[in-house]
Amino acid sequence: MRTIPSRIIAVRDEGKDRRTITVLNKEIAEKAQPGQFIMVWIPGVDEIPMGISHIGKEEIAFTVHRIGEATNALYNKKVNEYIGVRGPYGKGFKEVDGNIIVIGGGTGTAPLIPLIKRLYEKEGNNVTVINGAKSIDEMVFKEELNELTKMGKIKYMPATEDGSLGYKGLATTLLEEVLNKMEKPDEIYACGPESMIKRVVEIALEKGIHVQALVERYMKCAIGICGSCTMDPIGIRVCVEGPVIPIETLARITELGVYKRDSSGRKTKI
Ligand SMILES: Cc1cc2nc3c(=O)[nH]c(=O)nc-3n(C[C@H](O)[C@H](O)[C@H](O)COP(=O)(O)OP(=O)(O)OC[C@H]3O[C@@H](n4cnc5c(N)ncnc54)[C@H](O)[C@@H]3O)c2cc1C
Repeated sequence: MRTIPSRIIAVRDEGKDRRTITVLNKEIAEKAQPGQFIMVWIPGVDEIPMGISHIGKEEIAFTVHRIGEATNALYNKKVNEYIGVRGPYGKGFKEVDGNIIVIGGGTGTAPLIPLIKRLYEKEGNNVTVINGAKSIDEMVFKEELNELTKMGKIKYMPATEDGSLGYKGLATTLLEEVLNKMEKPDEIYACGPESMIKRVVEIALEKGIHVQALVERYMKCAIGICGSCTMDPIGIRVCVEGPVIPIETLARITELGVYKRDSSGRKTKI
């Protein structure tokens, strides 16, 4: 897939150190599925993977959290500037109907937004969204999710560790409380810090609930050749077999929530 020069048409603050950047790119917008990712080239800096937080008719968006050189450069891009975008890549979420729980942590909620939209648009689905963050400043898409609740499309349950919005505590503790009060859901979708994903998998295995989670690993090629994003011990390539991985596979990945590899392949603790 070629890198397409894409014009930035909107930049929106999304809490502390986070921004949603919308670019014109009809080719990717027509193909992208919730859960897939794109490779974003920031001229003169780097090319990095980003989840897709909006899929429009001729535009897509991603939500960047600045943590290093490339994400910082991206965060500072302005409307009408150009970046390169290739994709969409990887396997997205498989849509399951019924009683659904979507759990996002921090910026990890962003790639769940197109999925949430698909789910509530289907009649008969009952969608609960648990959105966790350290504090209200780190909570992305809270206004949209609130609005969707007012419109009766979803049930939005924010959770913050400092209690600045919604439930005080971890999103996974809230998940356990919700599960204890409801009938077994048909599916749980998750994206966020790996410690959160790992806990979601443990809870779901205990209760016999199916999960699909979006996992991040260091990536170079994004097309399954370089091997940078493989996970131990089964060697699954996150860019091709993921980034959305089902619970059967997640349960076999021993490095989940424990370590990841850096740009030189060295293991670093999570
Ligand atoms: C499928 C996928 C979807 C992602 N979606 C988003 C998103 O929606 N929003 C967002 O803010 N971030 C997302 N990321 C993570 C983002 O790609 C990294 O934060 C970014 O590459 C860091 O680059 P940097 O130069 O700013 O930081 P660096 O200084 O290079 O690194 C900071 C940290 O990020 C990790 N990292 C660095 N490069 C990569 C890379 N190419 N791939 C994965 N991890 C890396 C490093 O291990 C290190 O821990 C996603 C990653 C993947 C694999």
